[in-house]
Amino acid sequence: MTYQSVKGTKDILPEESPRWQAVENLVREVMELFAYREIRTPIFEETAVFVRSIGEDTDIVGKEMYTFTDKGGTSLTLRPEMTAPVIRAYLQHSLGTGGGVQKLYYMGPMFRQERPQAGRLRQFHQYGAECIGSSSPACDAEIIALAAHVYDRLDIPYVLKINSVGNERCRPRYREALRDFLTRVSERLTGESRRRMHTNPLRVLDSKVPEDIEATAEAPRMLDYLCDECREHFEAVRSHLENLDIPARVEPRLVRGLDYYTKTAFEFASPDLGAQDALGGGGRYDRLVEEFGGDSTPAVGFAAGFERLFIALERRGSRFSGHRLSVYLVGLDEPSRRLCLREALTLRRMGVSADCDFQQRSLKSQMREANKRGAAYTVIIGSEERERGVVTVKDMTTGMQETMELSLFRARFTGEDGGAKPRRD
Ligand code: AMP
Repeated sequence: MTYQSVKGTKDILPEESPRWQAVENLVREVMELFAYREIRTPIFEETAVFVRSIGEDTDIVGKEMYTFTDKGGTSLTLRPEMTAPVIRAYLQHSLGTGGGVQKLYYMGPMFRQERPQAGRLRQFHQYGAECIGSSSPACDAEIIALAAHVYDRLDIPYVLKINSVGNERCRPRYREALRDFLTRVSERLTGESRRRMHTNPLRVLDSKVPEDIEATAEAPRMLDYLCDECREHFEAVRSHLENLDIPARVEPRLVRGLDYYTKTAFEFASPDLGAQDALGGGGRYDRLVEEFGGDSTPAVGFAAGFERLFIALERRGSRFSGHRLSVYLVGLDEPSRRLCLREALTLRRMGVSADCDFQQRSLKSQMREANKRGAAYTVIIGSEERERGVVTVKDMTTGMQETMELSLFRARFTGEDGGAKPRRD
């Protein structure tokens, strides 16, 4: 009997993990440049954490959550997103005590039972950030700048779309206007949208089905219904973005899939991705902390997908060389292999990556292995070398071969030989 990974999940194989590590490191670096600190929450939460925040009538809660009852009878859910867990943790550990703004970031797997297709998995990986405790439009702009900076560093082109979804004062009036409009065009809508039109009309604008898009082309725009506070906020975000040289396109239909957004909503789309073109997105959620039972605390955040990033990188033909082996040690007889193992450990203790053969293979196949692994140097040890107290070193880039004492070879990595320090990875 053979097993396969579950539909919609993927193994990240050793050939792929170097690029994951490279991108994860880059994301961490960018987060820390922007003074965000990492938070790690459990993979699962009580189901209510998600239902309450994301909203009952969303795709995620309605049909995509991996929910199960544990042996104690508690309903648990594998996290489909991270804003709700972060806010749960923020309140549980009183991170907001003493005022100030909490800038938190995360990365890790998320779970949604979606129909698997290119760029859409059931276990996928996100990174994201939440800035909790300020209502300033400067925070919205900063978090957009942070998300954009990752793409800039990776040379991934994007289109930034922004909109305002208003707040609890102006949205009800818009919702009514939209519902009136949808009622007039209802026979042109899909069944799903006809149902949503009553429960959550804004979500109809989020439909990706061409019939719905066509039927709602003339729908009223939230931007025309914003109250003064929301309009001023939106204009201020746009002006900050301009000041930060980040071009943004106003997209009046952008509502995003979660219910908790207020004011700013934004999305990064890739011109290279086709149907699943969303690289990431986010928005302001000024009421969520309160809904979780905390004091009224404004916040803004975003989440972005790793898998989509890799697809965008591939389309651009970008390659990550990732981590390469520095030294491969070739032993030609048993005492030499013993020496290789010892020397590999010495090099590793110096911070130099090293590996050796464990299958007693021939010189030829060990050399082939060193080549395949992209080693910078191969060190060959046989009985002759051992007798003379030397090793044969082959520089795999130039092909040059020389004989030297091991201590002299090691000195190459510490710069003690007076020459330039060779590359370690
Ligand atoms: P969302 O929270 O739905 O706005 O998702 C934020 C980002 O996560 C999206 O823009 C995608 O890049 C990524 N993402 C969301 N769902 C999936 C999925 N099922 N498979 C792969 N990536 C996803």
